[in-house]
Amino acid sequence: AFNAAVAGAQDALNAFIVTTPEAALEAAAKVDADRAAGKPLGKMAGVPIGMKDLFATKGVQTTAASHILEGFVPPYESTVSQKLWDAGAGMLGKLNLDQFAMGSSNESSAFGKVISPWRKDGDTTPLAPGGSSGGSSAAVAARIAPAATGTDTGGSIRQPAAFTGISGIKPTYGRCSRWGIVAFASSLDQAGPMARDVRDCAIMLETMAGFDPKDSTSLDLPVPDWEAGLSADLRGKKVGIPREYRVDGLDADVAKSWDQGIAWLKDAGADVVDISLPHTKYALATYYIIAPAEASSNLARYDGVRYGLRELPEGANLQEMYAATRAAGFGDEVKRRIMIGTYVLSAGFYDAYYTQAQKVRALISQDFMKAFEEVDVILTPTAPTAPFALGQKSTDPVEMYLNDVFSVPASLAGLPCMSVPAGLSSDGLPLGLHVIGRPLDEQGVLNASLALE
Ligand code: GLN
Repeated sequence: AFNAAVAGAQDALNAFIVTTPEAALEAAAKVDADRAAGKPLGKMAGVPIGMKDLFATKGVQTTAASHILEGFVPPYESTVSQKLWDAGAGMLGKLNLDQFAMGSSNESSAFGKVISPWRKDGDTTPLAPGGSSGGSSAAVAARIAPAATGTDTGGSIRQPAAFTGISGIKPTYGRCSRWGIVAFASSLDQAGPMARDVRDCAIMLETMAGFDPKDSTSLDLPVPDWEAGLSADLRGKKVGIPREYRVDGLDADVAKSWDQGIAWLKDAGADVVDISLPHTKYALATYYIIAPAEASSNLARYDGVRYGLRELPEGANLQEMYAATRAAGFGDEVKRRIMIGTYVLSAGFYDAYYTQAQKVRALISQDFMKAFEEVDVILTPTAPTAPFALGQKSTDPVEMYLNDVFSVPASLAGLPCMSVPAGLSSDGLPLGLHVIGRPLDEQGVLNASLALE
């Protein structure tokens, strides 16, 4: 019955690239044995979770949803997934995603798009589950898995959480080890949990976070007991509402849910004030220079020699083998990012684009630091629109990138941030609210999110 349930949901949503229900059952059996032997149980004991297919899992194919990694079976386990298994969780399978985590709708996967379990009232058009962690969001929203891992470079935990009515937190950059996670943009990538509610996210993040000597940007700090610190009482807390996020084209339903969120935080005792983050309008352009630049460098390793796919046309030399492998293995969006990235890093354009983007990134961080002298957390919508239909934005990359407008600034500044469900749009689709906190203040972010729940 267990296998059939996973298979049925899989047929409907395509959330998984591979299912491994036997691994989840094995973990459950181990928990039973440990309990019988009187051994202490971990925080995730027996919980079957989905693993975004960006995490290397020993002995289980890891593809980043790209043909170029098809058939790659890692001989090692990522630090974050290992921590989850050590805490007693079991793996239901590897979840679908946008190829190399590049996208906001899960349509760039080489293994087919993921279909959101949600529909508009009175309409059957299939909707995007958000991206890049669209398999994770769809699986949790459809109740196939109580929780899943995600990764977030510019919004890939938060926007899919918002699009499917679930919760997801991106911790402070450095909280979770990046070791064994397929790299997209290394100065931005962070792992985090996606689950039904704030408490589940707190519990799961505690098991995922922690210092790892194998990641040079990992923070050597103790992991707080975020679950024990949960409190929806916001008396004495100050919440900032950044006026620059009231952008043109902000969906009326989204604006309404933002106002509702402000009212909920006031009810919880918070003092709500207007703030300014003056460089917000440059964040998207900055992100779409820095992220592709780092991606073009990280993706240079897929050369047909070391991993997965190799295309070796008759009589081809080494260069031709590289070119044939990369042409066949990478999808269109990945190629677009590599071209943008190599362009902004090229000798003639480096200063004009890459150096400039790094300077603006610093200004964006300073905006936040200045705001946090006055406020404890910042509240914004997670995305400027309700979930859109599959296919609606896939032919226009800029339209797609614009959906990240509220999630990328906090990523550029490395801040902890969370999306929680915040009611439905006028046609019955989930909307998310987004809480941004000071560096290392995951507790403040979780608590304000709890007050919104
Ligand atoms: N949608 C953004 C992008 O395509 C963010 C992706 C992510 O966070 N991995 O780059």
